[in-house]
Amino acid sequence: MTQKAQSTGQIGETTNPFESVQQQIDATCERMQISEKCHLRLRECERELIVHFPVKMDNGQVKVFTGYRVQHSDTRGPAKGGIRYHPDVYLDETKALAAWMTIKTAVVNIPYGGAKGAVACNPKLMSQYELEGLTRRYASEIMLVIGPERDIPAPDVGTSPKVMAWIMDTYSMNKGYSVLGVVTGKPIELGGSKGRFEATGRGCMISARMQAKQLGINLEGATVAVEGFGNVGSISAKLLAKEGCRIIAVSDSKGGILNLKGLDVENVLSYKKETGSVVGFKDSETITDAELLGLKCDILVPAALESSISAANATSVKARMIVEGANGPTTPEADKILCDNGKFIIPDILANAGGVVVSYFEWVQGLQSFFWSEDEVNSQLETVMANAFHEVSEMSQREKVDMRNAAYMLAIKRIADAMEARGIFP
Ligand code: NAD
Repeated sequence: MTQKAQSTGQIGETTNPFESVQQQIDATCERMQISEKCHLRLRECERELIVHFPVKMDNGQVKVFTGYRVQHSDTRGPAKGGIRYHPDVYLDETKALAAWMTIKTAVVNIPYGGAKGAVACNPKLMSQYELEGLTRRYASEIMLVIGPERDIPAPDVGTSPKVMAWIMDTYSMNKGYSVLGVVTGKPIELGGSKGRFEATGRGCMISARMQAKQLGINLEGATVAVEGFGNVGSISAKLLAKEGCRIIAVSDSKGGILNLKGLDVENVLSYKKETGSVVGFKDSETITDAELLGLKCDILVPAALESSISAANATSVKARMIVEGANGPTTPEADKILCDNGKFIIPDILANAGGVVVSYFEWVQGLQSFFWSEDEVNSQLETVMANAFHEVSEMSQREKVDMRNAAYMLAIKRIADAMEARGIFP
């Protein structure tokens, strides 16, 4: 299946993520009177590659998988974005994720465009050998369009530093020499950057801390619920706990856990590593994902997949502040309900930008073959995130719009200015 409409949300609700991005781009371009030639270019992806490729499975059979690599824009620099391995991926989701990357890299003002890749597969049901075969073949299929100067993949849902190492090796074998800059999120021993693994969660924590200060929420003792306990969710939880927050609930695809006195995040992490899920952790009661999203708390961090907060459940959200760790966790209709209910949202294109910022640092370090200490990485990340937060916040106050609209305005102005400066070839 290459294309399908998301089925969550209420009837008539926009749950196709690419349509949601296009709506947001239209509204921003109209509000800012962006020229039609830039607006029309921003509404579409520059390149969409679909590949169907065979992989030898452990049982001797051959399976054909479908993968995508979409480049939304390379106006401000090479296209940049992760690769997702998940059974439900489809083209419009990948297009939306690519477009969000273009906007995100412009919000934090790093010299990249936006891209995304995906393979429809279930990595949890595959052996390491099968996963390596799938990754190496997919990397070969998309070699046509990736490269350190053109499009640089990174990890996303279902992929890891190990997967990035296989892609780097496959690309390098085909070129005949080692190419560090072709992917980011690599293992440290292969030119990965210190601090990259934690970067997205760290960025969520930094933006949450800055927003909490503006809203007068004291992080010491503030209650937090986190949906999705993978890379982004678990690190956000860990770093917010370090700031003094009480993490009362977390969830993964198998369910959620609650302890109003606070969960020990490190112990939950070890438990998940051992058992594959957070469910069943001692000193906690099991809750559903829907119950987690509706918990009374100061901060809610949706860090799983798109559209988890839709018109169907937005009214039940009681958190004061929502930090979008995931890409596109809130549908446009849900966004309106949350704003009408006085909820404060730090949008994905700002909140989770820490990952691509440190990916940029990794790429720069690889190109220069000169590596930074973890303190240097974290302090540069803090600077970039703080600048972006201030710029978005200032735009929001000046234009009297929420943070999401302000972030889109800031980004689209930067991209449109770059398009105008470059002109149209030929
Ligand atoms: P991951 O695979 O490490 O973790 C995803 C987590 O979500 C897993 O724990 C999974 O069990 C859980 N999950 C899936 N469906 C769920 C459901 N219905 N309810 C509750 N939990 C569910 O992926 P990740 O890298 O942490 O990415 C999570 C989100 O953050 C995605 O939207 C991704 O695009 C976005 N993001 C990731 C990065 C990054 O650097 N990894 C950067 C920016 C944005």
